[in-house]
Formats: sequence, C-alpha cells, structure tokens
Amino acid sequence: MSAGFDTKCPDCGKPARVSTGQKSCGGHLYWFESIHCQGCGLAQEADGEGVPPENIRRRILEAEGEWNLLIPAPRSTQRIAGILRQLLDCSLAQALAKAKSAAPVATGTKAEMSWMADSLSAAGEEPAVAPLASTPGTSLQDRVSRFLDTPVPGGRTKSWDDWQKSAEALGPQAADILMHALAVGPAHTHYAALLGLRFCGFEAWYRDDQSPVCYEVRKKGDRDWGRIIPVNDPRADDGRGFTAEGRKPEA
Ligand SMILES: [Zn+2]
Repeated sequence: MSAGFDTKCPDCGKPARVSTGQKSCGGHLYWFESIHCQGCGLAQEADGEGVPPENIRRRILEAEGEWNLLIPAPRSTQRIAGILRQLLDCSLAQALAKAKSAAPVATGTKAEMSWMADSLSAAGEEPAVAPLASTPGTSLQDRVSRFLDTPVPGGRTKSWDDWQKSAEALGPQAADILMHALAVGPAHTHYAALLGLRFCGFEAWYRDDQSPVCYEVRKKGDRDWGRIIPVNDPRADDGRGFTAEGRKPEA
C-alpha cells in the first residue's frame, strides 16, 4: 500500500517523486517514505516500525481513506479485550467496552487494521477489515440522521457535553445535510439541525418573529444571511420545541 506525490528535489530542484507506504507483515507494522529524483538520481528512504509519524500517516489516509476493523461474531470478548488492550495501549475497561460494542473496534489505515486483524485471527477470532464508507451506519448521511433523531439535551449537563461532542464530530461536510433537514426535514429534527450548523462553521438562528417563520443561516465570515423557510412548521412540534438558545437576540 503506498501513496505518492511530486515535490521539488532538495538537491537539484527538478521534480522528484515521494512515495509513502505502510504494511503489516509477520505481526509487525512497518512504514516507509522514499524520495526519488530522475534529474540527479537522488534516492533516499526513511522507514520504521509501528505507527508512522503523523504527517506520513495523514498522507496514507488521504490516499486510501479510513478503514474499520470489525468483529461481526466475537467468540470471546475477554480475549478480544486482552488483545485490543495491547494493540491500542488502552485500559482493560476501554478494551472491554470496544470488544462488547457492535461498533467497529478500531478505525485507521488499511495496514493498521490488517495488522490488528492478524493478531485477532491468530487468537481464533474472525475479524473483518472494511473501508469506512462501506460499513453500514457509518456514512455521513447515516451519522447525521442519528444525530438529528437524538433530542437535544438541556444545557450544562453531562448529556449536553456528550451531545456537543457528537455535533463537533460531524465535521463541516455535514452542513449541507443539516440545512436540508431545516428546509424539508420533520419538525422534530430542526432544533438539532440548527444548533448542529453552529458546529459546522455557521451562524444559525430561528426566527419565529418573522412571517413566515424561517431560519437565518450564514457561514461565519460571510456578510449576507441565507433564509430557509421550512416546509414543516417547527411550531407544530411541541415535544422538542426551541429554547431561547435557538432564537436570535433582540437587536
Ligand atoms: Zn534531483
């Protein structure tokens, strides 16, 4: 597995090729990065064992995407936890929680997940390595749907902190889906969508002092506001209505 890009040769200044890669072999994880210049013949390689330096790892992830390690039918969660504890350098409690959860036990580069899968296979488990995008329930659309269906907790509680973390985890690409939810989604999702946008680099307000009722949204730094008039009236949803948090302060 390798990724590559072109750069300027540090010796002669002509275009040179950088190749970055990672592999799992014999229970060990290796990485390498090499530069090769056709102009002057410069050839250098750096390599190492274990998780690669962060800049190298980032390039591998950009080229190959993220991969999940799943154990669809665990035989022994105790044994799995013991292995995960070593591989992930986490506490036994954390490893046990991962081993018992239906969610992927780890996410990372393909080689890292294969390396972990080899250890689990050697212990009699049947792990699977799959690209993140193809794991059911982990696409951005799925994650945003779950986020929108979770009621927004009240302020200053532990569940509010957890909710904020889940909002932050959505990432800026979620903004389009959240705006779509405000426009045409069911009313009970609007409050989460509105507050969620604020974690995606947007300002977003509920305007029930306007007619028709609307949402005002703009990207932070933009001058003009966009206006979203919801197909589904949020006032119809009295179960999870808007709190003062969502309303624009009086000018
Ligand atoms: Zn050169």
